[in-house]
Amino acid sequence: MVKLIVSSIAAFALLAVAQAQATTPTQYPPGDQVPDIKSAQVQAWLKEIDLTGIPNPPSHGQLVAPACDRTPKGACIWMCEICPADDIIDCPLPNHWAITFDDGPTAATPPLLDYLKEQNVKATFFVQGTNLVQNKETLLREFKEGHILASHTWSHRALTALSNEQIVAEVKWTEKAVEDITGVRMKYIRPPFGDIDNRVRQVLKKLGYKVVNWSLDFDTKDYEALDATTRTKASAAFHKKLSDYVKGPKAHGIYSLQHDNTPGNVEFAKVITPYAAELGLKTATLSECQSDPYPYQGTPPPNTNTTNPTTTSGGSKNNTAPSSTSTAAGGKTTSDKPSSASGLTVNAKTATAAMAMVAAAAAYFF
Ligand SMILES: [Zn+2]
Repeated sequence: MVKLIVSSIAAFALLAVAQAQATTPTQYPPGDQVPDIKSAQVQAWLKEIDLTGIPNPPSHGQLVAPACDRTPKGACIWMCEICPADDIIDCPLPNHWAITFDDGPTAATPPLLDYLKEQNVKATFFVQGTNLVQNKETLLREFKEGHILASHTWSHRALTALSNEQIVAEVKWTEKAVEDITGVRMKYIRPPFGDIDNRVRQVLKKLGYKVVNWSLDFDTKDYEALDATTRTKASAAFHKKLSDYVKGPKAHGIYSLQHDNTPGNVEFAKVITPYAAELGLKTATLSECQSDPYPYQGTPPPNTNTTNPTTTSGGSKNNTAPSSTSTAAGGKTTSDKPSSASGLTVNAKTATAAMAMVAAAAAYFF
């Protein structure tokens, strides 16, 4: 299955990009701002989406990080409460490590892609709209080289602070930018700071998205590892977490949390990625973890081969070429699999860890 998934993604990439290149250039909203909900484009999107019945409470006012003490109880805010939700936080496959990068692409990303290609490692990139429209070629390279693209919103605001309409604008503009460049419409999203509650979940589901946060013990804290000294400390701490996981029962695999918005983050990635081979873990993409051969909305482009893999899960030096064009994909995916099967774990331990993360979330990361 893993071989087939990687081959399929490589195959549809070229077809999707070819279709996207025929589109008219788009005027995107200003960077690092919540897009204007009164614009004609957002108003058109809002007409297509039924938000009836979804509450629209006043903002709690925190645009950078969740504020657990200022948010309504019972809203099931992932980082604040013990509560049932269908967010994906663990890779369902034991012994698999899904390496994920947030906040890019940036000028720091190409050296990371060089490294991942050299190591034959595929990752998942949760991309931010205002960065990707400044780095379109890098985004395209991520896609063509077999990495998975998922959303991290347009301006990286805490979504629980935004109105339903603003959430639509954040998600749809990011979605459109990626679709304009690559031809695919993203299906998975990681809310900035992991900040999500039941209201935001409802809006994201209306937009066709599944939420992927991260395994709570596997925040790499690369945002604290910006020089050699802190890098050594953070990498040692992460190595211990991975080692403990390997020694444990391994009921599920791991979604780690990393970033690709500084050279320090990339250097950190180079330090910790080899831990997978050292500890006997298999690196995986979101697509592999979720057994979702087409991790995007809709169906793959026609004439995409999903039955004759030519690459392995480790990738090949030429992983963008379709192996053939003989078999239609048929659009059969596992995307409608109930997310309750995704490895969700919410307990006191993870809630405590989440609270600790909130305290550490002053920096503009996650
Ligand atoms: Zn982020």
